[in-house]
Amino acid sequence: MKDLVIIGSGPAGLSAAVYAKRAGLDAIVIEKDPVSGGQILITYEVDNYLGLPGINGFDMGTKFREHADKLGAEFAEGTVTEVVKVSEGDDSTAPVFKVVTDQGEYETKTVILATGASHNKLGIKGEEEFTGRGVSYCATCDGAFFRNKVAVVNGGGDVAVEDAIFLARGCSKVYLVHRRDELRAAKILQEELMSLSNVEIIWDSVVEEVKGDNKVTAITVKNVKSGEKKDIDTDALFVAIGIHPLTESFTGLCEMDESGYVIAKEDGATSTQGVFVAGDSRKKRLRQIVTAVADGANAVTAVQDFLIGKK
Ligand code: FAD
Ligand code: NAP
Repeated sequence: MKDLVIIGSGPAGLSAAVYAKRAGLDAIVIEKDPVSGGQILITYEVDNYLGLPGINGFDMGTKFREHADKLGAEFAEGTVTEVVKVSEGDDSTAPVFKVVTDQGEYETKTVILATGASHNKLGIKGEEEFTGRGVSYCATCDGAFFRNKVAVVNGGGDVAVEDAIFLARGCSKVYLVHRRDELRAAKILQEELMSLSNVEIIWDSVVEEVKGDNKVTAITVKNVKSGEKKDIDTDALFVAIGIHPLTESFTGLCEMDESGYVIAKEDGATSTQGVFVAGDSRKKRLRQIVTAVADGANAVTAVQDFLIGKK
């Protein structure tokens, strides 16, 4: 019987692992991917984490994991498919949860859900057909394939603008298609984007279709104000239209909002006693590395408080 099972080893889960180890809790982190680090692994540069300006995302993920390893945190590989409350517990007894993975099961007194989020899809014609053949969700991973070629980025948030800036370094031309006339991305990123001569922004427009033969050759965009449609010749479409929480496996375990974000207080305590949440899968205003790391620390502190006096 574990004191704590931490599900996910992104910034939130790894921070929780460090705090749990230092608190002397018998904890284990379960991660579905072969490498820890979560979403930051695919970002080429993180420039807003205090003390580490400009760090490469993969290096940051590696550093976070090394920190947890150095303290002796325990890790296991597996995709958690279900968390079941086996017994309720009371003032002197902790509840018991069964954490089911594709590799085995764990019994634990508490759980921290730190499963983060994943990219959204457009759901348009050609998107699925051309995924891996010009349609991509990761500019850092696939951008190099389009050196000296044309790329389109769809979205107006931090990821879309960062992707466009990154791609503009190698592509001959980058179009950014955004559905409004104003970007959501941080001002500093917008300024950098606007300074690039090979980037063109297509405002008030949505991507309606991806076209090609055995790879992408064009996309159809529609101006949402005028209704006018046109084709843009391109070799790639990078979709960067936001994220959704990876919480489907926990439906019914604790309260969530309509999008699947787990509702919790600042300390991560959910509507179910013994279940805590940290990071991007928590309903909150700012989803960043710094808030994920803070969430992990807060959640472990709440776990400690919860377990006081409980066998
Ligand atoms: P995640 O990083 O999503 O990690 C969750 C982990 O849980 C993953 O490793 C996942 O594999 C694992 N997992 C999920 N489901 C399961 C399951 N069922 N079983 C087992 N394991 C599971 N933020 C910044 O502050 N600065 C930036 O510059 C920045 N750049 C970004 C660039 C990109 C391209 C992206 C996508 C995001 C960026 N962010 C940035 C946001 C930042 O990455 C997130 O806020 C942060 O990673 C959230 O951490 P997390 O631990 O909550 O979730
Ligand atoms: P985001 O901030 O939610 O932005 C999503 C963008 O896609 C928005 O501009 C949105 O348009 C647009 N969009 C959503 N659905 C769409 C659809 N169906 N069709 C067309 N456009 C659509 O998501 P994100 O950029 O992926 O960022 C995710 C999180 O990571 C954010 O919290 C972000 O701050 C964080 N992050 C931070 C940094 C950094 O700090 N440097 C870098 C990367 C990511 P509207 O604007 O009209 O809503």
